[in-house]
Amino acid sequence: MSVNRHSGDGCQGACCLRVTGLGVVAQGKTILRSLDLHVHCGQIVALIGPNGAGKSTLFKAILGQQPHTGSIEFERSGGKKTRPLVGYVPQSPAFDRGEPISVLDLFVAAGNAWPAFLPVPKGMREKVRQCLARVHGEGLMDQKLGSLSGGELQRVLLALALEPLPHVLMLDEPFSGVDVEGELRLLRLLDEVRRRFDLSILLSTHDFSNLADYADKVVLMKETVLKVGTPREVMDSPEFAAVFHLRLREGEG
Ligand code: ADP
Ligand code: MG
Repeated sequence: MSVNRHSGDGCQGACCLRVTGLGVVAQGKTILRSLDLHVHCGQIVALIGPNGAGKSTLFKAILGQQPHTGSIEFERSGGKKTRPLVGYVPQSPAFDRGEPISVLDLFVAAGNAWPAFLPVPKGMREKVRQCLARVHGEGLMDQKLGSLSGGELQRVLLALALEPLPHVLMLDEPFSGVDVEGELRLLRLLDEVRRRFDLSILLSTHDFSNLADYADKVVLMKETVLKVGTPREVMDSPEFAAVFHLRLREGEG
């Protein structure tokens, strides 16, 4: 077991991302309907479902980039409700090997309107170094984006998503195109990040092999939530078998 469970020490589950009755219709097609989702502080929640289930659309709605019905709220310990501050790691973009932009340039461009043709001031360099240190990526600062491995690029995108520190970190299919070793490294890093910064993590994945080791909760969805529970409860459910067209093994059921 690579990653330990964590039930939200410090806030005892008192803060929560709460999605209630979410609906999305685009071009006359229902993409999400009556979707409810709770993510408590410190939890890692894995969102699973077939292609086209609406996982990325749900992320967009939580990011405030997708018109929807229903409500998306972040409830702080104490009961105060706000819009959540969300950090988002998109599905890894591929950069050309010859991409001349460095990691430092990317941070500067994302955070400030500093012109690319001027030298980066020392204070800004230090700030970027601190951001990268959160993911143990200080050494990547002057590398070109095109020279990064898949795992390194992911760490850089994670560092970007952690500035400013969000309430909820969302990652859309962070393990696609990552090998087993890379997946374990990323999982250890995510576990460290959520403990250190007391944030919740919502990620989508098609890889069920490690689910039971790291996910506090699994949400199976297709348009709406079909099943919520522990990894075992969801993966052993008839809903899971039906969605992924699995037949029960001989001798079972
Ligand atoms: P997933 O991430 O689970 O694969 P998506 O959220 O990307 O699913 O897509 C869910 C469904 O919504 C798909 O059928 C997709 O074609 C459709 N869809 C996504 N965005 C739009 C849009 N802007 N207009 C129309 N259909 C869309
Ligand atoms: Mg998607």
